[in-house]
Amino acid sequence: MLSVSASSIQSYLTCPTQWYLGYIRKLRPRSFSKSMIRGEVAHAMIEEAMQAMYNMAPVRLQVCIEFVMTSVVPEIIAREKQAALFGELDLQAINAAIYAGVDIGIYFIDDVLPKLRWDVLAVEVPFKHRNKKSGYTIKGRVDALVKVDQMLYVVDHKVYGHMPDDDSLFLDLQLPFYLAMLRSDTTEFHTEDEIPSSLIEMLDDNENRPAIMQNILSSTPPVAPRVLKSGALSKDKSQRTTQGLYMQAMRDRGLDNDPSYLEFVATLNDSRYNKQITYAPTENHLEWSTALVDICAQEMLVCDHYNIPRPGHPMTCNMCSFKPICKTMREQGQTPDVVTYDKLLYCEKEKHHRGEIA
Ligand code: SF4
Repeated sequence: MLSVSASSIQSYLTCPTQWYLGYIRKLRPRSFSKSMIRGEVAHAMIEEAMQAMYNMAPVRLQVCIEFVMTSVVPEIIAREKQAALFGELDLQAINAAIYAGVDIGIYFIDDVLPKLRWDVLAVEVPFKHRNKKSGYTIKGRVDALVKVDQMLYVVDHKVYGHMPDDDSLFLDLQLPFYLAMLRSDTTEFHTEDEIPSSLIEMLDDNENRPAIMQNILSSTPPVAPRVLKSGALSKDKSQRTTQGLYMQAMRDRGLDNDPSYLEFVATLNDSRYNKQITYAPTENHLEWSTALVDICAQEMLVCDHYNIPRPGHPMTCNMCSFKPICKTMREQGQTPDVVTYDKLLYCEKEKHHRGEIA
C-alpha cells in the first residue's frame, strides 16, 4: 500500500515534476535553505512553549532556547554537513539562519503568546489515514489543537516573508484536509498520549464544527524601539517595533503614563509581525479538499518514468531549487528516472539520511 505524506501532496500540487525529483528520486540541493532552517528553528521553539502550556507548566523562554540549541540545532548542522560537499559548508550563514529562527521564537513566546487566549488541547498530533478503496495511506502531523472561546481550532504555524491576506486560508489545501482527516472514521492517531474522548467528540461535533487557524509569523521579527540621542523613544512609524515592545521600553524609562507616547503606541500595527487567520470550512469544503487529495494521491500512484509528471505553472520555477536538473532533463530529452544529476549541486536524501555522501 502506497504511503504518502500530506506535505508531498502539497509539493505535487505545486509541481508534479518537482515532487518527483524530491520525493521519488529523493534528491535535495546541497546548498542549504535559509528560510527552511529559520522556519524549523522558530517552529521548534513555538512547539516547546506550547508543550509547556499543554502540560499546564509555565512557559520559560530560556528552557525553549536551550531545547532548540541542544536538540534541534545539532541535527540541523549535522544534516547540512552531510549535504554539503567537504569544505563548502557556510557555517556562518547557517548560524545566521538559526539565530533568525530563535529571534522569531523569542518574539512569539515573549510578546505574542501571553496575549493569546489559547487553551492548548494537543501538540504535534501525528495521524494516519487509510483509503482502502484507492489503496493508499496518507500521513500527516497537526501542529496543535487549541480551544479559544469554546471554539476548537486545528492550528498550523507558518513563517512568511510577507503577511498573507485573510482570505489565504480559504485557498489553503493542507488545513481543511487535516481537519477532514481528523473527522474521518478511518483516521488513526499515533501519539504517545491517548487522545481524550472529549477531544474526539469536539472534533466530530457537527453543530459546533471545528475551524482552522494559521498562526503566521513574519520572517523579520520586531525589535525594541529606537532610542534617540536625546534619550527619547523614536516615534518613527516605519521602525520595526510593536505595541508590546514599545510599552516595555516606556516602562523601562518610567514613561508609562506619558500621553504622547501612549498616543503613538496606539498607531503601531502589530499584525505586520504576527496574526492568526481563522476560517471555518463548510462540510462541502472539507469533502472538496478530500476529493482533491484523493485525485493527487491516485496520480502519484501511477507516476513512473513512462508517465513523466507534468511541470507546474512557470511562476513556480523562479523559486525552484530543481531548476538546473529540470533544464537538463528537457535539453537532453531524458526521463526523470534516468537523468544524471550534477553531484556538486544535488545529493540523494536517503544516502544523506544514512550518513553517506554520494
Ligand atoms: S523548474 Fe519548474 S517545472 Fe521544473 S521542477 Fe521546478 S517548478 Fe517544476
